[in-house]
Amino acid sequence: MRLLLVEDDILLADALSTKLKRVGYSVEWTTSASEALALAAQEDIHASVLDLGLPDGSGLQVLEKWRANGLNFPVLILTARGDWQDKVAGLKAGADDYLAKPFQTEELLARLNAIIRRYQGRSLATIEVGRFTLDEDRQVLQIMDGEEYSLTGTEYRLLRCLMDHPGQVFSKNQLKEQLYNLQENPGDNVIEAYILRLRKIVGAKTIVTRRGQGYTFIGQAT
Ligand code: CA
Repeated sequence: MRLLLVEDDILLADALSTKLKRVGYSVEWTTSASEALALAAQEDIHASVLDLGLPDGSGLQVLEKWRANGLNFPVLILTARGDWQDKVAGLKAGADDYLAKPFQTEELLARLNAIIRRYQGRSLATIEVGRFTLDEDRQVLQIMDGEEYSLTGTEYRLLRCLMDHPGQVFSKNQLKEQLYNLQENPGDNVIEAYILRLRKIVGAKTIVTRRGQGYTFIGQAT
């Protein structure tokens, strides 16, 4: 899941970006309003954490432009502490939630997951497909027979992408976009290697190769 982090406080952004990657997001980070607009127009962004005070403009205007251009991904805005006018303006401009600085990273993650779930029309922090349940908060895969597997960040991101859309075929390029940001450039073998690892957990018939097209998650396979 590709997340756009727009934040000009380098220390905060660096720490946040590390944490977001660890819990399964592929993070694009920018410090500027103009680049935030360009990235959202060019890339397939799934959610954004948006600071309102940016060096070359206001995050509020960025948000208004995204919404005016039909970009509806969930947005969590970061506001100055106690600045209720900013919160109101942000929500009116189309933000899904806000958080005042300073904040606990855990709260940001919980709120972010919540607005993404709402956007996807889910109320629980789990994705269920057939015998498999993926727990977003713990990054754990449970299988109906009782087995439970802790997943690494990359395994989790890949599996979440496939399980979010069971039956849909994803090419290696599409999967790479989900797993890595624009600065990283992994080879095709990386995806193959991770698919192999996931198949050891869910079974070879659950993640199927469609020749020349890519991979798909089949939930009902045993
Ligand atoms: Ca700022």
